[in-house]
Amino acid sequence: MKARKSLLYETFKSYMPLKKYFIENKKPLLVGLFCLLIVDFLQLLIPLVIKRTIDTLTFQTATSHILLKYGLVIIAISLVMAALRYVYRRLLFGHSRMVEEKLRNRLYNHIQKLSPSFYHRTKTGDIMARAVNDINAVRMATGMGLVALTDGLVLGLTAVGFMMVIDFRLALISIIPAPIIIYMTRILTRRMSTQYEDVQKIFSNLTERAREAFAGIRVVKAYSRENWEYEKMVQEGKAYIRGNLRLAKTIGLFFPMMAIFTNLGLAIVIWLGGRQTILGQITTGDFVAFISYLNLLTWPLMAIGWVTNLIQRGSASMRRINRVLEEVPEINEPRHPQVVAPIRGEIRLEGVGFEYPGQRGLALSGLDLTIEKGQTISLVGRVGSGKSTLLQMVPRLFDPTEGRVLIDGVDVRLMPVKRLREAIGFVTQEAVIFSDTVRNNVIFGREGISPGEFEKALSVAHIQDEVQALENGMHTILGERGITLSGGQRQRLTIARALISDPPILILDDAFSMVDTRTEEGILNQILEMRRGKTTLIVSHRVSTIRRANLIAVLDQGKLVEMGTHDKLLEQRKEYTKLYERQVLAQELEMEH
Ligand code: ADP
Ligand code: MG
Repeated sequence: MKARKSLLYETFKSYMPLKKYFIENKKPLLVGLFCLLIVDFLQLLIPLVIKRTIDTLTFQTATSHILLKYGLVIIAISLVMAALRYVYRRLLFGHSRMVEEKLRNRLYNHIQKLSPSFYHRTKTGDIMARAVNDINAVRMATGMGLVALTDGLVLGLTAVGFMMVIDFRLALISIIPAPIIIYMTRILTRRMSTQYEDVQKIFSNLTERAREAFAGIRVVKAYSRENWEYEKMVQEGKAYIRGNLRLAKTIGLFFPMMAIFTNLGLAIVIWLGGRQTILGQITTGDFVAFISYLNLLTWPLMAIGWVTNLIQRGSASMRRINRVLEEVPEINEPRHPQVVAPIRGEIRLEGVGFEYPGQRGLALSGLDLTIEKGQTISLVGRVGSGKSTLLQMVPRLFDPTEGRVLIDGVDVRLMPVKRLREAIGFVTQEAVIFSDTVRNNVIFGREGISPGEFEKALSVAHIQDEVQALENGMHTILGERGITLSGGQRQRLTIARALISDPPILILDDAFSMVDTRTEEGILNQILEMRRGKTTLIVSHRVSTIRRANLIAVLDQGKLVEMGTHDKLLEQRKEYTKLYERQVLAQELEMEH
C-alpha cells in the first residue's frame, strides 16, 4: 500500500512543473470540465427517458402525444450534448496544445543555454526524443488523459449509482466483469503503444536507409552495390510488415475481448434481471434502463484502463524532461558582473589547464600566454595539440579547469557573457551553415548591419561574386532545404559571418582548410588590412599565412613549447622548424597542381 501511495505521489509530483500552465489557463479549463460534466449528466438521462417510455407502454398509459414528447426530449438532449461536446473538446484539447507549446519552448530555451559539456554527454537523438516523443506523451496525458479520466470516473460512478438505485444486488453482480475490463484494457493498450512505437522506429529506419542510399547514390553505383542496397531495403520492408502485423494482432484481440466481457455482464442482467422483472420486483422499463446503463459503462471502464497508462507514460516523460530542465548551465552569468569598458582586445592566459568532461588526461596544461591588443597571433601544432581547445576558452565555450583567461585584465568569468561573446568573431573549424538565406546566414540576427557592411564582409571573404551568381543572390536559401555549397564556399561564408560586426577580437580556427592557397592569401591580406589595431587569432596549415603573424605560438600535447616571430623560431631550429619544413613541402606540392 505504501509503495502504491508513493508511486501516485511521484506521478503527481512529476507533473508539478506544469502547474503554472494550469493556473494560467484555469478559466477555459474549468468551463471545459463543467461542460464535460453536463454532457455526462445528460448521457445518464437518456436511459431514464427510455425507462419512462417503456413503462408507459407496458402499463398502457402511452398516448402518441407522450411518445412524441419523449422523442423530442431525446433530440433536445442530443443537440445540447453535441454542442457541449464541441465546446469542451475545443477547450480541453486546446489547453493540452497550449501546455505542449509552452513546455516545448521552455525546454528548447533551456537546452540552448546549456554548456557544450551537456551536448558532449547527450546524444542529439536523445534531445530530439525529449522534444518530440516525450512532449507528445505529456500532451496526451494532459489532454486526452484529463478528459477521459474525468469522463470515465464521473460517468462510470454515476452509471453504477443509477444501477444501484434500480436494484442494488443486480448492480453488484453485473459489474463483476468490470475489473477484468479495466485490467485487460491496461495490459492491451500498453502493449499497443509499445508496438506502435516499434512500428514507427522501423519505419524511420526504413526511410533513413532510403534517404541515405539516394544521397549516396553515386557511391552505390560506382561500387555497383544496387542489389545489395535493394536487399537491405527488402529486409527493412519485411520488418515493417512484421511490426504492423504484431500491432494488428493486439488490436484484433482487444475489441473482441472487450465485447466478450461486456456481453458477459449483459448475460447476467438478462438472466437475473429478467427473472426479477417477471417476479415484478423491477419494471420492464427498469430492466431496459439497467441494460442501457450497463452499455454506457463500457466506455468509462476502458477509459480508466487506458488513461492510467497515458498518465503513467506522461509521467515517465515528464521525469525525463524534468531531468533536462534541472540541468544547470556550467557557463554561468557572473553573480556580480564586472562592468567593463568596451572590450579592447588584450588576451592573457594564466596557467590555463583543461580536461574535457569524461575524458582522462589534460587537453591543455600550464599555459601562459599574452596577446597584446592589435596583435595577430598564429597558433600552430600537430592535429590534437590543443589549438581548438585553447581558442574555445576565449568566448567561454568551455571554462578552464585550472588557471584563468583575462581580457583587458578582467577574468572572462566575471564579464557579462553576452558582452564577451559579442566582442568576438569566431570562425569554428566546422563551417556550419543553417537552412536559411545567404543573408541570414551572414547577418545571423544581428541588428544595425548596413548593406554596405554586408557587401564589405562578403567581399573581404572573397565570396561576393559567387553569391551574386546565385539565382536569388543573397536571398538564396542554403542548406538542407536549399542549394548545397562547396566546403570552401561554406568556409568563406562563415568568415563573412565573423567579419561583419568588425569585432575587437577575431578567431579563425582552421578557417581556410578548404580554400586554395591563393584565395587564402587574398582573404588574409584584406583581413589583416581591415584589422589593423585589432586582435586576431589564426590557426592555419599554410606557412604563408602563419608567418605573417606578429607572434607564433607552438603547441604540443596541450603545452606551449615555443613562442616568437617566424624568423626567431626558425633560428631556434626546434619544433617550429620541423613543422615549417613539412608544411613548405606540402605547400609546394599543392602549388604544382
Ligand atoms: P587541435 O585543434 O590542435 O587539432 P584539439 O583542441 O581539437 O586539437 O584537441 C586537443 C585534445 O583534446 C585532443 O587530444 C583531442 O582528442 C581532445 N579533444 C578535442 N575535442 C574534444 C572533445 N569535444 N571531447 C573530448 N576530447 C576532445
Ligand atoms: Mg582544431
